[in-house]
Amino acid sequence: MKKNHSQFILGDAWPVAELVVEYIKLQPGVKQAAVAGTIRRGLEIIRDIDIVVAASSPDSLVAAMLAMQGINHVISQEVGRLTVSLINSLVCTVYIVSPHEYSVALLYYTGSAGYVAKLAEQATRQGLTLDSAGLTNQQGEQVAVKDERSLYAMLKLSYVEPEGREDETELRPAGDAAEPLVAVSDIRGVFHVHTTYSDGVGSLADMAAAARQRGWQYLGIADHSRTAVYARGLRTETVMAQRREIDKLNAAYPDFAILAGIESDILPNGSLDYPDEILASFDFVVASVHSAFRQNETDMTRRIVRAVNNRYVTMLGHPTGRILLRRKGYAVSLPEVIRAAAHSGTIIEINASPYRLDLDWRWCRIAKEQGVVFAINPDAHAVGELEHLRYGLASARKAGLTANDIINTCSLSEIIEILKRKRQ
Ligand SMILES: [Zn+2]
Ligand SMILES: [Zn+2]
Repeated sequence: MKKNHSQFILGDAWPVAELVVEYIKLQPGVKQAAVAGTIRRGLEIIRDIDIVVAASSPDSLVAAMLAMQGINHVISQEVGRLTVSLINSLVCTVYIVSPHEYSVALLYYTGSAGYVAKLAEQATRQGLTLDSAGLTNQQGEQVAVKDERSLYAMLKLSYVEPEGREDETELRPAGDAAEPLVAVSDIRGVFHVHTTYSDGVGSLADMAAAARQRGWQYLGIADHSRTAVYARGLRTETVMAQRREIDKLNAAYPDFAILAGIESDILPNGSLDYPDEILASFDFVVASVHSAFRQNETDMTRRIVRAVNNRYVTMLGHPTGRILLRRKGYAVSLPEVIRAAAHSGTIIEINASPYRLDLDWRWCRIAKEQGVVFAINPDAHAVGELEHLRYGLASARKAGLTANDIINTCSLSEIIEILKRKRQ
């Protein structure tokens, strides 16, 4: 607890930041407000919340902020900036600017600091000054900027989405834009969802109805397999019972399909915990390590690579097993696992649970270069956890992934073919 003091997972900080923004938007004189900083960049670990507000009457906004429920105490207060501690000790800074300064302030406080410094250098080359006071010309006059895209254009650069704005990001000249990042509107369905058949709290019917309500075309169920006794893993008879219910529900849906999968444990020797004929009967298999975490790197790598090379393993689940701010991943050589996935045509999961975000986006970048494709999997154990998709999307976007890199962007008919490809 001491070590992780004042650090939060994205899943804890982002919804709080959104609530504060909602509250700010209700105040008189507020024109625009948005979450900036590390949350907007989609980082997996957050130290504080940054919010940028365009307001015509800053004093009344500050008064409203001080009266907001959930504030523990004020840390600092100066003109245009209020920093407070919220009741869960999350620190929140609100930057208040006038409406014409908003876009530059949003870019500036989204960061990262190193990335903004590069933009500032580029501004200098264009005879402009970019700093916390905004964008000014050589006469010291404020330059009006409509939005962040216009600012990039003014700097003769290609636009970069917030998730891409990290210290190491290179500036790209105008006309040399990267491909558009995968977006929530590209998503046609998700995989790796648990139900009450194993350790989920949502029934199969409820999870499917929620997915359909989101406008998705399919939902990939993957309950725990029989070795995962602690998670009520499915015995073969239960697999068959679940299959009958899936068939029944599918018969009632004209425009939606439940795909029958399983999250099969990778046993310490790298084999899976069902015989091949059972594995072959699933639409897809997510293979995950849930036991014997303490194997040394050589054994763990051999174990996972063997599973990846299994023709029935469609996807590798949470490849490192890390739980953010709680436990490190197991010792495993990711370059070897990624190479095996690329060679065998095994999809790598971006486990979108905000506790996991595994495979890490930094490794996703490397895996993409090797030709790996990904599935964003919410690992939902309840209807509300389908929302985990947003955290996985943030990671995918940080990794620079496009719709082509993510199988969840495929239509139902395409996905059925894709899931069969490896075992054929
Ligand atoms: Zn798992
Ligand atoms: Zn799972």
